[in-house]
Amino acid sequence: MTETFKAVLISRDEDKKQSVAWTELSEDDLMEGDVTVAVEATTVNYKDGLAITGKAPVVRRFPLVPGIDFAGTVTTSSHPDWKEGDRVILNGWGVGETHYGAYAERARVNGDWLVPLPDGMSAKDAMAVGTAGYTAMLCVMALERHGITPERGPVVVTGAAGGVGSVAVALLAGQGHHVIASTGRASEADYLKELGAAEIIDREELSGPARPLGKERWAGGVDAVGSHTLANVLSMTSYGGAVAACGLAQGMDLPTSVAPFILRGVSLLGIDSVMAPKALRLEAWQRIATELDHAKLSSIASVIPFGDVLSAAEDIIAGRVRGRVVVEMP
Ligand code: NDP
Repeated sequence: MTETFKAVLISRDEDKKQSVAWTELSEDDLMEGDVTVAVEATTVNYKDGLAITGKAPVVRRFPLVPGIDFAGTVTTSSHPDWKEGDRVILNGWGVGETHYGAYAERARVNGDWLVPLPDGMSAKDAMAVGTAGYTAMLCVMALERHGITPERGPVVVTGAAGGVGSVAVALLAGQGHHVIASTGRASEADYLKELGAAEIIDREELSGPARPLGKERWAGGVDAVGSHTLANVLSMTSYGGAVAACGLAQGMDLPTSVAPFILRGVSLLGIDSVMAPKALRLEAWQRIATELDHAKLSSIASVIPFGDVLSAAEDIIAGRVRGRVVVEMP
């Protein structure tokens, strides 16, 4: 008898109405790829929340197993880089969007998409970081390339109590930056201070329409929020500074002017984790393994069983998730 395993499946009816259900799949049901992985841990990112709730068109083929990232062990491989028993991480590449994703006990993917789990890191640790945390590292690396050192002045992190934000706060504080954390959840002030935030500001300060130029408050920032928030962050960035933009929690629009760019030489650094080249991924994961404080990672992450993944997807879209959610597979 063919062995089956539990999976989440998103389908669409003739009226294009989306539905989500638990199902049993076998390896024969998985999509094409040269590496099969036993998924040991996955996570719930904002994009997974959008996919499962159907709030944005993340899923672009039906039916689809959602879940944009996982960590696990290779069970079979015909890819030259991977063999049975190798420990791997996957982030993005359309997995959970156009290719069957992480919310199944097995995944089959293109071996080029995988990176090795860094030495000393467990599958659960990797998913405590997840795509959100790896994106935070990509943002930090982009700011570094732009010369944003702690000596240049404070840095701001928006959506600070979320996944990208929490890891960005921890990484930047770990490098000695004076981190200003912007959050809508005053109740998370102690949590953010534990992660290393020096100051907490109410996200209301940044969520309304921005003036072309505001008071220079920071040398740079990591923005997970977009819309008016990013416009305000830009208008308050000091001369020659830079902002790494990766998210759209407030909105996909960017109601700004060219003033910060042409009058203050501010740079807007776009960050994409999904199609990021392999060399950048390897560097990001190696640096996460060595630079992200393990105790801070533990306070960022909570662990849920696979069976709770659908309710966690609702929670992240409702802004009820603090930090990162690790999904432990059976
Ligand atoms: P989370 O939901 O964990 O974090 C988002 C945070 O944004 C919330 O915790 C909240 O922070 C803040 N927020 C939510 N709604 C609003 C609002 N209406 N106005 C202002 N702030 C708001 O999500 P993730 O950290 O997983 O992802 C953050 C963003 O980054 C998402 O838009 C996601 O799609 C994007 N992303 C992009 C990637 C890329 O490759 N470019 C990769 C990964 C994520 P608080 O409670 O502190 O105010």
